[in-house]
Amino acid sequence: MSIVIVGAGLGGLTTALFLEKLGISFQIYEQTDQIKPVGAGIILAHNAMQVFDKLGFKGEITQLGNSLTSINITTNKFQTINRIETLYFDEKYAVKSVAIQRGVLQHFLINKLKNNCITFNKKVVDVKQGNKTTILFSDGDQIECDAVIAADGINSVVRNQLFKENEIRKPNQMCWRGISNITLPINFQSELNEMWGKGSRFGFVKISKNEVYWYGLHNSSQKLAKNDLLNSFKDYDPVVRKILSQTNFAKVFESEISDLKPISSWFDDNVCLLGDAAHATTPNLGQGACQAIEDAYAISYYISKYPINTAFSKYQQARKSKADMVVNLSWRFGILSQIKNPIISAFRNFVIKSIPSSYNLKQSEKIYTLPQL
Ligand SMILES: Cc1cc2nc3c(=O)[nH]c(=O)nc-3n(C[C@H](O)[C@H](O)[C@H](O)COP(=O)(O)OP(=O)(O)OC[C@H]3O[C@@H](n4cnc5c(N)ncnc54)[C@H](O)[C@@H]3O)c2cc1C
Repeated sequence: MSIVIVGAGLGGLTTALFLEKLGISFQIYEQTDQIKPVGAGIILAHNAMQVFDKLGFKGEITQLGNSLTSINITTNKFQTINRIETLYFDEKYAVKSVAIQRGVLQHFLINKLKNNCITFNKKVVDVKQGNKTTILFSDGDQIECDAVIAADGINSVVRNQLFKENEIRKPNQMCWRGISNITLPINFQSELNEMWGKGSRFGFVKISKNEVYWYGLHNSSQKLAKNDLLNSFKDYDPVVRKILSQTNFAKVFESEISDLKPISSWFDDNVCLLGDAAHATTPNLGQGACQAIEDAYAISYYISKYPINTAFSKYQQARKSKADMVVNLSWRFGILSQIKNPIISAFRNFVIKSIPSSYNLKQSEKIYTLPQL
């Protein structure tokens, strides 16, 4: 059977690694001429790390990044709103949550692929279904295959061609991401901190010895110059200014937050969507890539056990309700986190503080537990 994976993002690469491990042949087509790390850092939560453990990568990825002991939500002046200690999950799943530079992770995964299975500079422009599926490229080439896994991101060409539902939603939030060359005070070494202001938030986490990944968001769809960005967080604890002032702004990534409104089906005959192409989410739960990585584990398992159409159907059954839950929860969480009205945001903080930690653990467990295949 010939399988084509469209896109060498974290979803496509992880799928490739599983297929390779299972002895199933495939080819990846990637539009760029090399892997360009989008965004500065990424948090791999316990679900993603369990999947990487199945590939035998837990130790190496943990070494390449920085493992976390807690995830904190605070006010812009560091008053705790919510704190989740990761120890319970570390013990339950025998992996740690890891913050890592995206480019480091992507190159690690590419280097783990044994065969020459990625064709770069190959942009898919159309997919035609039939007995065999025909894939057309922007350079005029075309190929035939038995099945397509479209891991081509939120603006998936394959989804736009073959699936009817393609509603991209925008919550009016602009996001900046960067890496600061700074050594954090000792108490921040293994924590992810996200500070909530009024209509804005700022998060930061250590990803390597002298590197801190940060992200900042405002209720807006406007781009900002460097000084305006610095000023826009002037009400925050001074650590924010320190982090921003040690950042190379030429490398700051600026984008408007968006997601894909959940769609009714992820596959059509022998073409199947995976990762952001199927269920792009806002980044508020830090789960987009983690969900793509879970997809990779599920789809490859079912492909190794069943004919392709059954495999795609079982993959959707195993994954869709959870991924849709993440998309919807993340959307609501993003709106909640950037409430501008001071009275409503003070009330929000009070309510979140009152939530028992056992409830928080249960909610996180739903996200971190892998599907039973
Ligand atoms: C601000 C922000 C912060 C985030 N933080 C986190 C986090 O901490 N943790 C987390 O788990 N997730 C996070 N995410 C989400 C995460 O980035 C995505 O969910 C993840 O990258 C999706 O992976 P993917 O492989 O599905 O798609 P992508 O990463 O988008 O990869 C798609 C690939 O397909 C290629 N491609 C596209 N079209 C074509 C075509 N026509 N032909 C050939 N190739 C094509 C692209 O070049 C790309 O390489 C964050 C997202 C944002 C916006």
